[in-house]
Amino acid sequence: MEIPKSDFSEWYNSIIKDAELCDIRYDLKGFVVFRPWAVMTMNRMFTIYEKELESKGHVPALFPALIPESYLMKESEHVEGFVPEVFWITAAGNNPLEERYAMRPTSETAMYSMYSLWIHGLKDLPLKIYQRCQVWRHETKATKPFIRSREFYWIEAHDAFATEKEAEAQVKEDMGITEKILHQQFCVPFFFFKRPQWDKFAGAVDTYGADALMPDRKALQLPSTHMLGQNFAKPFNIKYMDDNEKEQYVWQTCYGPAISRIYAAVIAVHGDDKGLVLPFDIAPVQIVIVPIVKKETKEKVMKKCRELEKKLSEKYVVKLDEGEDTPGAKYNYWEMKGVPIRLEIGLRDIEKNSVMLFRRDTKKKEPVAVEKLEGTIEKLREEIRKNLKEKADKWFMEQNDKADSMEEFEKKVETRGFIRIPFCTDQMEGKPCAEIIRDKVHANIRGSLYGEKEKPRGKKCIACGKPAKIYLYASRQY
Ligand SMILES: [Zn+2]
Repeated sequence: MEIPKSDFSEWYNSIIKDAELCDIRYDLKGFVVFRPWAVMTMNRMFTIYEKELESKGHVPALFPALIPESYLMKESEHVEGFVPEVFWITAAGNNPLEERYAMRPTSETAMYSMYSLWIHGLKDLPLKIYQRCQVWRHETKATKPFIRSREFYWIEAHDAFATEKEAEAQVKEDMGITEKILHQQFCVPFFFFKRPQWDKFAGAVDTYGADALMPDRKALQLPSTHMLGQNFAKPFNIKYMDDNEKEQYVWQTCYGPAISRIYAAVIAVHGDDKGLVLPFDIAPVQIVIVPIVKKETKEKVMKKCRELEKKLSEKYVVKLDEGEDTPGAKYNYWEMKGVPIRLEIGLRDIEKNSVMLFRRDTKKKEPVAVEKLEGTIEKLREEIRKNLKEKADKWFMEQNDKADSMEEFEKKVETRGFIRIPFCTDQMEGKPCAEIIRDKVHANIRGSLYGEKEKPRGKKCIACGKPAKIYLYASRQY
């Protein structure tokens, strides 16, 4: 790594190349190859997420990647939102197709076409299904690997309930899952914003998005959870018979953690001038062992290293680096790859029955007695998580600010993260004000902070000057 993280955009371009996370040379615009080091972490992230979803009653399924045009066209707002980004399949072999197929941009229409066949009575509810898959969207904004590309990898969970109340509870549960995994385990802080009406998911009643901040203080949208109400149940005819033998439409929610994009946040939030810094539980290699050998001591040292590799592998993912490089070159390499713990072992360590332990997150080194090694690593696993989270939280909370006028906002948006502004309304009538902010300041309204009760008093909307009814947050964004 030669580029400091303070030059974030270049640092990011450089780290995804140097740490071998993806290859951008695949000759299809907006598509990249995800390389093993990235995929190994993403697989761990998928597993953590899926386990949590299943613990909350979700079950997995796999739906076709192709969606018949007739399915996609059923819900009009959804059509309007997604059709401009759809990749269409129009021919099979040499023959044009009678009906076009969409490569799924998201799976509401695929899944709900089937939900209408599966849901009949109260016994079929709630229905909570998730799938792990990739989706395709013809993005017209600039693409950046993991952050925005025309193909990405995610989990989408689609739930149906008998009552509105249960659906509302599900939205809260989705937020809880996001906090538990994204913040507590991946150590990425965020705010949940209720999106303004003009920026909700196409077809939803309300959208709640988790927004993180990248090091350049631009917002990165992470998982969103959507209250769909009965907006899809009606056109897709998803009904159940209630206790009074009356047909009722179901209430629905959906939740979409995009793992590839969450991975971008993990890279960006924790990385430093030396490369990646990964939370212990999602690192592809958790412990690397570097032997310090001279010709005459090699055999003895390697024997001890292999012994330790075998022992630690029972519990962790361990790599013994037997390559020809100097120890210094190996240190740099594994630090760039973000391996959380490094053990250095030479003859002198063996004589003292200890190893030198290096922590990637703090860059601190200390000798540890061999008999205490496993206990120390187990303790560090939690300490590393705590340290990464505290560091990220502290930075995140320091970036946010307030502004009561357009001038003040314009000045602050250059150097701050989420900025709270008084605004006329988050209903559709507020859209022209959001457009003023977008065109004038190149900033974007993220929404109202979930859970914030405070209302502006005697303040004016910074765009139109009418009395402000609500505080909204705005920032630059990816
Ligand atoms: Zn306004």
